[in-house]
Amino acid sequence: MSGCRNTPVLKERGQREVFCGLTGIIWLHRKMQDAFFLVVGSRTCAHLLQSAAGVMIFAEPRFGTAILEEKDLAGMADANAELDREVARLLARRPDIRQLFLVGSCPSEVIKLDLSRAAERLSSIHGPDVRVLNYSGSGIETTFTEGEDACLASMVPVMPATDEKQLLMVGALPDVVEDQALDLLARIGVGPVRCLPARHAADLPAVGPNTRLAIAQPFMGATLGELEKRGARTIAAPFPFGAEGTTRWLKAIAAAFGIPESKVDEVTAAPRARAEKAVAAVARDLEGKRVFFMPDSQLEIPLARFLTRECGMQAVEIGTPYLHTALHGPELDLIAEGPTISEGQDVDLQLDRVRAARPDLTVCGLGLANPLEAEGLATKWAIELVFTPIHLYEQAGDLAALFARPLRRRAILQGRHPNMMEAAE
Ligand code: SF4
Repeated sequence: MSGCRNTPVLKERGQREVFCGLTGIIWLHRKMQDAFFLVVGSRTCAHLLQSAAGVMIFAEPRFGTAILEEKDLAGMADANAELDREVARLLARRPDIRQLFLVGSCPSEVIKLDLSRAAERLSSIHGPDVRVLNYSGSGIETTFTEGEDACLASMVPVMPATDEKQLLMVGALPDVVEDQALDLLARIGVGPVRCLPARHAADLPAVGPNTRLAIAQPFMGATLGELEKRGARTIAAPFPFGAEGTTRWLKAIAAAFGIPESKVDEVTAAPRARAEKAVAAVARDLEGKRVFFMPDSQLEIPLARFLTRECGMQAVEIGTPYLHTALHGPELDLIAEGPTISEGQDVDLQLDRVRAARPDLTVCGLGLANPLEAEGLATKWAIELVFTPIHLYEQAGDLAALFARPLRRRAILQGRHPNMMEAAE
């Protein structure tokens, strides 16, 4: 089988329907337990965050919005002085904050508020107790998961230097999944292993020429570039989705540390068998079905590989907001030729292709799902794939189930599912 690495890519640069990078704060604020994300933005940005994260009543939130009012936008007030005042007030009230991210938005970019200088200034005032960094989550510059990439990239220049041979796992994973990865790697004999992002500011990992990178999320393009500037080298591998992806990811890491495949096979035999069994139980609902990915999170290419190779689906089109050859190449090698590979979006043209293909399942953003459902097409909300733990063996069955559920629901509605009771569960 030859893969899709050399398939010509359909590049589109039209209107796109995708969240902005502020969305990443929703999972990053849970991961970094002593960090605070201060969006310098408008009421729209505050509403996006609040509706996406839900309103926290009992907990002290770890994100907020410094709202730029009209007088700031009109240049009638000194936005820097106001920002300094708000940050001082926040840090006085919240001594637990060790890391503060100033997050740029469309409005802060439009008025050219220089948040990197603000971060430097605030670091000199509040450091070393509080590290102040900045990145952009604006809809002008970033799509959805690029917010996390920009956030992690902003941390790389302040990482200490090291010559130690180590593995750096890059990309935020839910704690329970991260613990599973650390346990597997320890049993295989890979170590020491550090994580970016770390759960606490004090554990910010070091980086250097003997650091090997295990990229855990496929949207880490900018972070990878920054880490390579510090001398680190990436381990080319598919991403740890599904039984096969996880095994290949672990084997590539083990090889980089001189550990034989047989050791990985020995350590992973039981969880791999569990994952294969769990996926097989769901795959009967996916087998032979045609799937169309619209570009959303950059998870599209790895997930298409999982669905086509482990669940028997056929990919019609695999759209991604950005295609990074270094990150996505090993995945494209594994996807059989056939699907259109598209990068970027021109939403109307892409919707025309969806309507012409009438796939069994379309993976797309929230805004496109309801209209397509109304046209009789089953959809999967791409955002769920980011908010649900889907990496590694123990989550492989859940990952397959995320795609099977909308198909089952549609079958129930049409009264043609073979086992209505089971499907209703
Ligand atoms: S950053 Fe831009 S796209 Fe995102 S919520 Fe704010 S105004 Fe909207």
